[in-house]
Amino acid sequence: MTDFIEVTGLAKTFDHHQIFSDLNFSAKAGEIVAIIGPSGSGKSTLLRCLNLLETPDKGNVTINGEHFEADHLSKQKILAVRQQSTMVFQQFNLFRQKNAWENIAEGLITVKKIAKTVAKARALEELDRVGLTEYANFYPEQLSGGQKQRVAIARSLATDAKIILLDEPTSALDLELVGEVLTTLKQVIKDHPDYTMILVSHELGFVSQVANRVLFFDNGQIIESGSADQLLNHPQEARTKQFLSRFAQTTLAH
Ligand code: ADP
Ligand code: MG
Repeated sequence: MTDFIEVTGLAKTFDHHQIFSDLNFSAKAGEIVAIIGPSGSGKSTLLRCLNLLETPDKGNVTINGEHFEADHLSKQKILAVRQQSTMVFQQFNLFRQKNAWENIAEGLITVKKIAKTVAKARALEELDRVGLTEYANFYPEQLSGGQKQRVAIARSLATDAKIILLDEPTSALDLELVGEVLTTLKQVIKDHPDYTMILVSHELGFVSQVANRVLFFDNGQIIESGSADQLLNHPQEARTKQFLSRFAQTTLAH
C-alpha cells in the first residue's frame, strides 16, 4: 500500500519554544493511527501542521498526493493542502449563529463553491448518517456536546476529504456523552475503510479497538510505536510505561 501521509523533518517553534524539531512518520491509505501522549507534548500542533492551520518551520509533507515544503508555501499551495484533510476538534468549533445543516453546508458553499441547495442536500445526508436528521434546524446551543461533535463529524465527512484528523474528539464531553460519539466514529470507520485517520485520544479502550497503529508522543517526539496491543499492553520504553501507569491511576480515580 502506498503511503498516504508522509512527514519528514517536521519542525515547529512557538516564540522560541521548540515543540518538535525533526518529526518523521507516515500513515498508509486506510490506516487508523492513534496518537497518545501527555498534555502539552505537541499532538495538536502536529495535526494542525498537517492541514496548515499552523505553518511548520521546516519539513516535507505529502498528504493525499499533495506535497509541500514548509519553507516554500504559496497561498495556492496552502489551499490545495487544506483540501486534502479535515479536522474534528476537541471543542467542536461550530458556528454559534448557524444551525446544524448550515454548519455543515457552510464550507461547501464558501470553499467548494457548491450551490446552496446542493450543499443543503449533502448536509442533510451526512446528518442522517450520524443519526441527527431531526436536529437539522437546531442551533449549537440547543444541542448536547455529543450531538455537537456528531454535527462536526458530519461536517468533516461532507468535505469528502479522505484524511480525517481527530484531535481529542471526546475529551470535552461529559462522560455519559462519550459513548455516542465513539459509536458514531466506529460507524464512520466502517463506512469508509479507505479513509486515513490520525486520532489523538485518551480513550484507550476505543483506541485499542480501532487503531491499526499507536504512537506514543512525548515532548515533541515519537517515543514508541506499534500495534495497539504492543503499545498499550506491552510498552517497551520507560516513558511509555510511566505514562500508561499514571493514566491507569487517574482513570481509576474517576
Ligand atoms: P498537546 O495537544 O499535546 O496537548 P499542543 O500541541 O497543544 O500539545 O501544545 C504544545 C505546546 O505548544 C504547549 O506548550 C502549548 O502551550 C504550545 N502552543 C500551542 N499552540 C500555541 C500557539 N498558538 N502559540 C504559542 N504556543 C502554543
Ligand atoms: Mg491537544
